Amino acid sequence: MMKYTLKNIADIIKASKLKASDSTMEISQVLIDSRNISKKKNTIFFALVGKIHDGHKFIPELIKEGVSNFVVSDKKLATKDFPTANFIFVEDTLVALQAFAKYHRAQFHIPVLGITGSNGKTIVKEWLHQLMYEDVNIIRSPKSFNSQVGVPLSVLGLNKQHQLAIFEAGISESDEMAALKGMIEPEIGILTNIGTAHDENFFNHNQKAGEKLRLFTDVDTLIYCRDHKVVYQTLYQAGLLEKIKTFSWGETEEANLRITAIQKKQNKTKISAVLKGKELAIEIPFIDNASIENAMHAWSFLIHQAYSQSVIEKRMKLLNPVAMRLEMKEGINSCAIINDYYNSDLKSLEIALDFLNQQTQHPKKTVILSDILQSGKNAEDLYTEVAKMLMQKGVTRLIGIGKDISSQADLFDIEKHFFDTTSDFLANYNLGFIQNETILLKGARVYAFETISKELQQKNHETVLEINLSALVHNLNYFRNKLDKDTKIMAMLKAFSYGSGSYEIAHLLEYHKIDYIAVAYVDEGIELRKAGIKTPIMIMNPEAEGLAAAIKYKLEPEIYNFRILEQLIEAIPENESIKIHIKIDTGMHRLGFEENDIASLIKTVKKHPKIHIQSVFSHLVGSDDAKHDAFTKKQILLLEKIKEQFNKAFDKDIDSHILNSSGIIRFNEHQMDMVRLGIGLYGVSSEKETQKELMQVGTLKTIVSQIKEIEKGESIGYDRKGKASKKMRIATIPIGYADGFFRAFSNGIGHCFINNKRVPIVGNICMDMCMLDITDLQVKEGDEVIIFSDGEQINTLAKAIDTIPYELLTNISRRVKRVYFYD
Ligand SMILES: *Cc1c(COP(=O)(O)O)cnc(C)c1O
Repeated sequence: MMKYTLKNIADIIKASKLKASDSTMEISQVLIDSRNISKKKNTIFFALVGKIHDGHKFIPELIKEGVSNFVVSDKKLATKDFPTANFIFVEDTLVALQAFAKYHRAQFHIPVLGITGSNGKTIVKEWLHQLMYEDVNIIRSPKSFNSQVGVPLSVLGLNKQHQLAIFEAGISESDEMAALKGMIEPEIGILTNIGTAHDENFFNHNQKAGEKLRLFTDVDTLIYCRDHKVVYQTLYQAGLLEKIKTFSWGETEEANLRITAIQKKQNKTKISAVLKGKELAIEIPFIDNASIENAMHAWSFLIHQAYSQSVIEKRMKLLNPVAMRLEMKEGINSCAIINDYYNSDLKSLEIALDFLNQQTQHPKKTVILSDILQSGKNAEDLYTEVAKMLMQKGVTRLIGIGKDISSQADLFDIEKHFFDTTSDFLANYNLGFIQNETILLKGARVYAFETISKELQQKNHETVLEINLSALVHNLNYFRNKLDKDTKIMAMLKAFSYGSGSYEIAHLLEYHKIDYIAVAYVDEGIELRKAGIKTPIMIMNPEAEGLAAAIKYKLEPEIYNFRILEQLIEAIPENESIKIHIKIDTGMHRLGFEENDIASLIKTVKKHPKIHIQSVFSHLVGSDDAKHDAFTKKQILLLEKIKEQFNKAFDKDIDSHILNSSGIIRFNEHQMDMVRLGIGLYGVSSEKETQKELMQVGTLKTIVSQIKEIEKGESIGYDRKGKASKKMRIATIPIGYADGFFRAFSNGIGHCFINNKRVPIVGNICMDMCMLDITDLQVKEGDEVIIFSDGEQINTLAKAIDTIPYELLTNISRRVKRVYFYD
């Protein structure tokens, strides 16, 4: 960003009040997420007010961190409590941020390409960057920053060095595009396609297309696919075809760039087309239809930019896949590895460093970084900035790979090692030096960091459980939106977070400001504390030997009977106190005090002022099933009654809670002070409507190890249970009952998916393997096999063997590696 003074900004965003000791203070960075501070002094924080978070809440914390400039909308904000800080008051902070971006955009007169559509926006943008970065200095939306908040942040990154801008615009509700258009003001447009994402908020396809087109009402040229009927009709109806120039591609006669043939080979596709009577062709190293569509958009843009066909052909062949996700894996020597090695530029480095910085499970952090290509800055400026970022984000060791970064070695003030090439590094650096750390791999494509990743990664068993962290956050927000603003959420992380992994999930939830975490045992709580988790933790099954440790690590035991209460009283040291949660048995008849225990319980606790009751709670036995609704209500009433007894006795309002995931959906009016969210967080619900809204968190997958032809009459597997009634093809996959794939799935009871086709199990499931019937399918060795990838599949599998999704998820063995990623 270029520099503005506080006064400038106040004027631009039409502030109602500016309270500043020095209004000429220069601002060079905008911040909206209190967790991502890098520079402090010249930063301005926009306190955005969202459905879930209110940015104003973080102001005291930010001031402590050294941020001193704020755009706020809360008129009651007690600014006198913060005498050193500067405040700009506006009606709406998001509108202000957008107005600022719009103003900033108007200062530039370079070509701006705006991309919208349902799919492919990010890939087209990244591919155009791959195709053109050698010739022009391009600014583009980082990752997929395309929302009402992402677009202004992208646009504010514009500076004098940029020669071309590529910004994505994404809308999820109608009426959102006008604001985005005001900020992007594209001169050229690409409409990728209109699919079904976010359909529920749109009237129909045409309305959606119409809304998207508002981005393009003033463009010079719009690029689109002529074969897409809805797109064409809407363009026609909106009168745009007369108003603006268009460039279309497609198979129809009318397309400007008319496709004449698409030939798919082993791993590449040749696309032939005619442009103004001339025959042309490109070849891309992909064979899927989405890639062909994305490549056609990119090709059209290059033609529009007057690229020669020979350059286009040469570069199209070299297109790289775009990593859409930041991935975290278990590494050797107790390390965690974050892979982000498809591109390297300052903005994406910053995003990756933020992610690294948020990881607290290891004390040390290493970054392996290649030369940053095409930054438009000279090496010294560039690496000065990189060095600053590494310091600010708490990186402890840098391994620099490439001639440029090596030449600037002196700029880095941390442990550092430099190598000219990736193979130099692998040949000369002892990886044993990296122990118990989090490692970020960040390199330009040409440095082939995947070879480093292979060395650092734990040698994986091919069966993995992929955990989509973005989906988990989506599910959390889904439930948050169902709750009153003040209702707290306790996330249930028992049983290794329903199979998904404890630390990673706890960490993510802490980042998203969860109120409470619950685990089953003291050891699990200690593990989380040792990994840096600070959120309050409830322990559901405290055991006598663990109580002293629980106190030491500030864990909060659930107290369910007098025996454990006495043990606790014994265990509290002289100068300590402890918070506890009282479990009431309202009908489960498992653990908990009963109604007639309460008076005596209260008496005992009152004698021990070191014990603080944090909450009183109970658990529902059948909240997901209407036939138990009367019983559920009885449970709720009983807890409410008992809670009153506590309130009276202690003369304060003690929290109470009873709802689990399906309780939140079905008994929403009984939220009390907190809810306990379990399986819903992981994307599974017994409620059909809810299931549709949730995103799957875990995908259990493996690959085909071997394929065999079996003659009619032969048998397959142990005890000859599988029988070939005809000539068969079978595939063996490396997952068995020891991985948690129940033996009950044997002989066609269970199934997997290959290329979206359901494939039955043949024969008995073995300890480490099982066999699939692929007789009628096109499958080869090495192909991916999905055991489950959505809630419905988990529900179906569970039903097939008469169990519940909870049991399937929590049985996935620890030897199945968990791989975490963000979408
Ligand atoms: C597991 C558990 C929950 C969460 O239940 P879900 O159905 O998974 O939401 C809530 N409370 C207690 C006491 C639990 O043991």
